[in-house]
Amino acid sequence: MSVSEFDLIRDFFVRATGARADVLLGIGDDCALLRAPPGLALAVSVDTLVAGRHFLVDADPLDLGHKALAVNLSDLAAMGAQPAWATLALTLPQVDKNWLRAFVDGFAALAVIHDVQLVGGDTTRGPLSITIQVHGFVDPLLALRRSGARAGDRLLVSGTVGDAGLALQLMQQQLRGGSVDGRLSRRLDRPTPRVALGRLLVGQASAAIDVSDGLIADLGHLCAASGVGARVELARLPLSPAFREHCPPRQWRPALAGGDDYELLFSLAADRIEALRDRCRGAGESVQEIGRLVDVPGITLIYPDGRESTEIPDGFDHFRG
Ligand code: ADP
Ligand code: MG
Repeated sequence: MSVSEFDLIRDFFVRATGARADVLLGIGDDCALLRAPPGLALAVSVDTLVAGRHFLVDADPLDLGHKALAVNLSDLAAMGAQPAWATLALTLPQVDKNWLRAFVDGFAALAVIHDVQLVGGDTTRGPLSITIQVHGFVDPLLALRRSGARAGDRLLVSGTVGDAGLALQLMQQQLRGGSVDGRLSRRLDRPTPRVALGRLLVGQASAAIDVSDGLIADLGHLCAASGVGARVELARLPLSPAFREHCPPRQWRPALAGGDDYELLFSLAADRIEALRDRCRGAGESVQEIGRLVDVPGITLIYPDGRESTEIPDGFDHFRG
């Protein structure tokens, strides 16, 4: 980047920056100086979105700014961490003011909601790629891990699953014209990280993971880390009205393996479920029990007609716990 280009870019990023009291020094020096609260662990996660792989080169930059931060905040949510800071490494093919302005707007709108301050980053020229690292705080003894689930625990998921996966499937099928129902595509382009729910699950859930690769794949990770298996009742999956409207009959794949849901999947001791439901209701968070954890390894799907299977439907990959 030339000096003038860099000055211009920096102005955009300084604009994206709130002012947290724990940021002693933000963008502009060689490092940021940050003060972590005593007694809490720093939860750190990084994710990269690459053009052509994770999004289309001509994707709306406003959505990209949102999604790049949202997928990272979702990881903090899955640990029960309170978000605080972010860094941004951006590789740009050229300096396009309009693109940058929109990208920063999308990023900043979500950052403000979660009181996240952008404290630094790096900008280079090359094929479009976005890397964000987030930092949050959590009690080290109570952080939600993948590994705490026990046989007998109930399995729950937040929000609705499958909307983003179905949006992607419909987009890929669309040969010409027509557009995908905005209620679905919005879930793909502008996911909602379940930060408040993650905080509420601290000290409650025995294990948690965010659903980024698809419900079954991420359940597999939780089960493997916890040394348990799972039984999932498909009739109990939370599906949105738009999903029910557009998903072809008897197709379970978008809900089970679509990915990009960014909901929280978590386990809970059976005797905590009523209290949790009350707290969620009070906080306006929707959660749905979809099954239970068992000591037999592997994932069993229970179809609405009572049939049981350990294979993903629609000829999709086989899976094991
Ligand atoms: P250095 O060469 O010392 O790494 P840079 O010239 O890369 O410094 O960056 C100068 C300042 O601008 C640093 O504080 C850096 O964190 C910040 N910065 C650079 N790119 C970004 C970006 N994409 N987002 C946020 N801050 C950035
Ligand atoms: Mg640098």
